Amino acid sequence: MRQRITTRVLVVSGVLVVMFAPIFSLLVYASVEQRHSERQAFRSQEAIAVGNRLEKLVIDLETGVRGFVASGGRDTFLAPWTAARREYPGQAALLGRLVADDTGGRRLAASIKAAIDDYVSLYSLPMISLARDRPDVARSVIVNGTGRDRVASIRALFGDLFARERAVLQRRADRAEARSRTAVALGIGGLAAAVLAIAVLGLYLGRSVVRPIKRVASGAERVASGDLTARVPDDRQDELGDLGRAFNAMAASLEQSREEIDRRTRELERSNRELAQYAVVTSHDLKEPLQTIAVFAQLLERRSRGRLDATADQYLDAIQAGTEHMRTLVRDLLEYSRVGQGEMLRERVDAEAMVGQVMSNLDAAIAERDAEVTHDPIPDLEGDANRLCQVLQNLVSNALKFTDGRSPRVHVSSQPHGGGLVRVSVRDNGVGIDPEQAQRIFEPFARVGERRDGTGIGLAICQKIVERHGGSIWVESEPGAGSTFSFTVPAADGPDRPSAPAPDLAPAAVARDFLRRNGLAGG
Ligand code: ADP
Repeated sequence: MRQRITTRVLVVSGVLVVMFAPIFSLLVYASVEQRHSERQAFRSQEAIAVGNRLEKLVIDLETGVRGFVASGGRDTFLAPWTAARREYPGQAALLGRLVADDTGGRRLAASIKAAIDDYVSLYSLPMISLARDRPDVARSVIVNGTGRDRVASIRALFGDLFARERAVLQRRADRAEARSRTAVALGIGGLAAAVLAIAVLGLYLGRSVVRPIKRVASGAERVASGDLTARVPDDRQDELGDLGRAFNAMAASLEQSREEIDRRTRELERSNRELAQYAVVTSHDLKEPLQTIAVFAQLLERRSRGRLDATADQYLDAIQAGTEHMRTLVRDLLEYSRVGQGEMLRERVDAEAMVGQVMSNLDAAIAERDAEVTHDPIPDLEGDANRLCQVLQNLVSNALKFTDGRSPRVHVSSQPHGGGLVRVSVRDNGVGIDPEQAQRIFEPFARVGERRDGTGIGLAICQKIVERHGGSIWVESEPGAGSTFSFTVPAADGPDRPSAPAPDLAPAAVARDFLRRNGLAGG
């Protein structure tokens, strides 16, 4: 049966309420009872105090009558009697109210009141009249002790009342004590039960809610760290079951996607390899027939020169030019394939020597175009010396080639690029490139602008070499304002290595230096 977590939480809360409601009700009941017993005990104490006061008034009555009689009827001696007579009915009524809830006590209080009333009306008032008229008779009555007996019997009643009230007080105090003990026991028991219940329910919720959530969390961590086979239990019929199922579905779909990506990558790699292989084989196979065409075209031209008409000579020239262009294309294509496939060395490259080598290789072109090529000191690089030399040469060669008629001014500079790379830039004052074409020129066989004499594969080869070194290549240019080609490659000594001092830049000397350093100098 599907039992949702909300339901479970509600059930747990219900159980807590059902457990705690009676405990707290009992607690409240016990403390109310205790207060009630305390109040009753206090009433008994009050009753005893009022009884004492009343007993003292009785003594005052007696003292007043006796003094009056003994003094021969002097009114000043009657003052205690007068005051006590005024006060006792109030106190007697109060006593009656305080013991009202105890039948025996109530009866005793009533007897006391009646006895005092009797004493006042049947004994003291007649005695006072008698003392006024016949003091000596009155004195003999006093000596008789009738009044004292009456008072003694009243006090005996008080004795009974006090004994009774003390017993009641004791009972009530005991009861209050017992109730208080019950309340404390209930409080402690309730607290213990609460702690136990909370611990048990917490354990239950921990097992049924927190643990499955932790399992999903650790599954998520495994997925995040790349283990897409991670799955979590999903057989529960609640929200956590939903979560587990959603998680497993997500992991399964991720796993499927990755398998698909892996499969496609393998496919692409395979087809890439086949294509590259095909390009190499095709270019290689094309070389021979092209060579044959070129040789035979040359032979034909030599043999037939002056014997054929001018148009035939033109055709022969066209065949030779086309063949030459085709050979260049095939060579470049082979080179492009090799750069993508062959090994790329990781060695220290003396960049200054490399620049010197490039200048030396392009010596003729520089002289022919009356160009000026300058450069800043460039720090040593890390990579394949010959390939990096090829990149720089291609960029400088293009800078010399794509001019607007002015003498080319080319400058090679470098600066740290961050991430352990150095940026090498080649700036020229040539025709520049339309920004919209700027990205296209790095594609194989892409030629833009008016000059279309090359094969358009030089920059594609540069890009491949640079990318295989972990760098990138780009151009910043404006038509008519020259271009700056930049590429990044790893620095030999970390990102912030200061530029090396410029060596002797005389092309021949630098070339010798480069050949010597790279072990290419013959003898
Ligand atoms: P190619 O091998 O034919 O020289 P590249 O791949 O080196 O071809 O260059 C591709 C195209 O990029 C060139 O045809 C030219 O239009 C443009 N280009 C390259 N370098 C420059 C430059 N320095 N100034 C202007 N255009 C350039």
